[in-house]
Amino acid sequence: MGLLLLGLMAAQAQPDSAWQIQKHRHFLVYYEAGAAQQAGAVGRAAESSYRRIMLDLDFKKHTGFWLWDERVKIYVYASVARFREATGAPLWTRALASHRTHSVALGGNDPDLLDSVLPHELTHLIFRDFLGLGDSVPDWLHEGVAQREEKYGLAQSITLLRGLQQHDRLIPLADLMTLTSEQAARERRALVFYAEAVSLVSFMIDEQGAERFRRFCGQLRDGKDMASALRFTYPASLHSIEALERAWLAYLDRSTRR
Ligand SMILES: [Zn+2]
Repeated sequence: MGLLLLGLMAAQAQPDSAWQIQKHRHFLVYYEAGAAQQAGAVGRAAESSYRRIMLDLDFKKHTGFWLWDERVKIYVYASVARFREATGAPLWTRALASHRTHSVALGGNDPDLLDSVLPHELTHLIFRDFLGLGDSVPDWLHEGVAQREEKYGLAQSITLLRGLQQHDRLIPLADLMTLTSEQAARERRALVFYAEAVSLVSFMIDEQGAERFRRFCGQLRDGKDMASALRFTYPASLHSIEALERAWLAYLDRSTRR
């Protein structure tokens, strides 16, 4: 699971002669010597992830994004170890997405690269870019959406949450909403944080629709607090944090019984 750590890629200079490049419709894939094959697979997977994420989040009006000069740069390091060494990323990260430099960096030998790491990081950039989100949108939303677009993101979380719910060990929503992913990692609560985030986001999207979900995020972007954004977007159903928590717990109950 990559974290959205902005600015951490400052040490990574503009591509120099050490990088080779492959060009795709929405992506420029830079890769280190020896990673040409991985780079090809990354380019193809990035394009198909892009199409899938756009459909899932209902971004059909955003077809002109990320073309030509606006293409996203993907840096494929030969290995995850090389990626960490070059970017100075902390041990718990396997990839980084930078909104500022419009780029993603990752390790070409990561076994979860195409199914999890790549779609996760691309979702961070799409979600932030296409909705014009600043820092007013909390981490659980960013990470929940990114985790949802991983191949097994939701399925894995349901298994974990089933056990936690039985032992009454879930993080209450009011706490989840103020936690950052970094804080959760430091407190060894990252797994629960991500699992709750993806199930909550998926509950909102699957039960109330992606269009409404985007409107809800837009409310937060425009400065409304969580309670007001919920009340404004979901007046009849999820009109407060408490109402959201009750409905989400019932959904969790239904999903874990399947
Ligand atoms: Zn992330």
